[in-house]
Amino acid sequence: MEKLFLFNTLSRAKEEFIPLETGKAGIYCCGPTVYNFAHIGNLRAYFFEDILKRVLLYNGYDVKHVMNITDVGHLVSDDDEGEDKMEKGASREGKTVWEIAEFYTEAFKNDIAMLNILPPTVYCKATDFIKEQIDMVKCLDDKGYTYKTNDGVYFDTQKFPEYGKLALLDIEGLEEGKRIAFSDEKKHKTDFALWKFSPKDQKRQMEWESPWGTGFPGWHIECSAMSIKFLGRHFDIHCGGVDHIPIHHTNEIAQAEACTGEKFVNYWLHGEFLIEEKGKMSKSAGEFLRLKTLVDKGYSPLDYRYFLLMTHYRKKIKFSFENLDAARNGFQNLKNRIKEIKSAAPQQSKTLTDEALKYKTKFHESINDDLNIGEGLAILWDALKDSALNDLDKVLLANEFDEILGLDLNKIEAEKPDDVPEEIIGLANKRKEAKAAKDFKLADELRQLIKEKGYELLDKKGGEFEIKPL
Ligand code: AMP
Ligand code: ZN
Repeated sequence: MEKLFLFNTLSRAKEEFIPLETGKAGIYCCGPTVYNFAHIGNLRAYFFEDILKRVLLYNGYDVKHVMNITDVGHLVSDDDEGEDKMEKGASREGKTVWEIAEFYTEAFKNDIAMLNILPPTVYCKATDFIKEQIDMVKCLDDKGYTYKTNDGVYFDTQKFPEYGKLALLDIEGLEEGKRIAFSDEKKHKTDFALWKFSPKDQKRQMEWESPWGTGFPGWHIECSAMSIKFLGRHFDIHCGGVDHIPIHHTNEIAQAEACTGEKFVNYWLHGEFLIEEKGKMSKSAGEFLRLKTLVDKGYSPLDYRYFLLMTHYRKKIKFSFENLDAARNGFQNLKNRIKEIKSAAPQQSKTLTDEALKYKTKFHESINDDLNIGEGLAILWDALKDSALNDLDKVLLANEFDEILGLDLNKIEAEKPDDVPEEIIGLANKRKEAKAAKDFKLADELRQLIKEKGYELLDKKGGEFEIKPL
């Protein structure tokens, strides 16, 4: 097996990936809180995890990928204060919390499918594993890591000497600021809720009995409990966005390691943020960009995937429509180039020449160097432009690299004499996306437009279609 290097937030260094079990990789990725649609920044986090998973698969690992769906307990503030995001979403829309969760879970799955993100092996909803979460709080309680306040059961971070090792937190500095920062019954600024009590005068839509009183789990406990359930007490890789380093993942480590007494995770990987001109993209700020917003403006989801591919996951990306336009043009040029090559060499080769193998090796080295996919994309371009390579090699390389890129390059077909014009194909693809996004009004309008231009669309299974001249 080739050596694979990943940047581990725990050590702040690139380390060789050595799995716990030869040939296998267990990864846990913090999933969405399903109280609203995902914005395109959230989708960047799942895209980075998709590249990680594809690189592991490319290297021959048998990957078990677990993702949680947070449908309870994620409070608006990271300080365990404020409303539950789910209950807030439900009252905003006049629906039950359960309906909100189901609706936005489906919307999330739809978004990631449109971006060619491979679905996880296991999706686990927090509300399906309340017992496991209570058991973990009991374990921490038995070992003396907890204390009770009026509003819940808290983890006493001073009892876990390694607290903050992931974030390299300055605990003393945080403690100094504590009188200004908070004034509840928490003993230390960094302590966090394991179990919150339902308000005395109010019945929550989601609440459960526990040994400490009726209530609901703190947000962090679900990830420790469910990752251990599906991947074991000690597993290979845990990932999420960089915002998870100082609190969520720091707390996950504390709970898990305090309870099991062993190391929780070997490699922690974090994806940087997508930012806008005005700063961080956030849902609480009101208007936010969804994948569907981009589709409505005429971009394909894969234009956005190409845009994301150009930047390393540990660098910030500034989103602007100019940058997205540039990515769309680059992607269109790539598709055109591959179409030309396929048209010139319609049959497929099965083996690469030595000259092409050098490109394959370089590509593999790049992706194994902490997922340097931007360099991988540049290597594909170099190969396509290299006159020393024959067309059969180029097609084979593009198809192979697409196992990581996920741009559907293998679906590009050679030009046929009676080809339907690109414009019509573009409209039909847009309609397919509109249908996938359940925007049937737009889908009907596009079908009509295609008809006016002299073509008929015949729908097939799985959202595919055939285009015929009228
Ligand atoms: P949430 O649904 O809010 O829990 O967030 C889901 C995922 O999106 C988490 O892994 C976050 O770290 C990540 N995330 C949130 N905002 C951004 C952003 N602007 N860019 C990249 N990732 C983000
Ligand atoms: Zn998590």
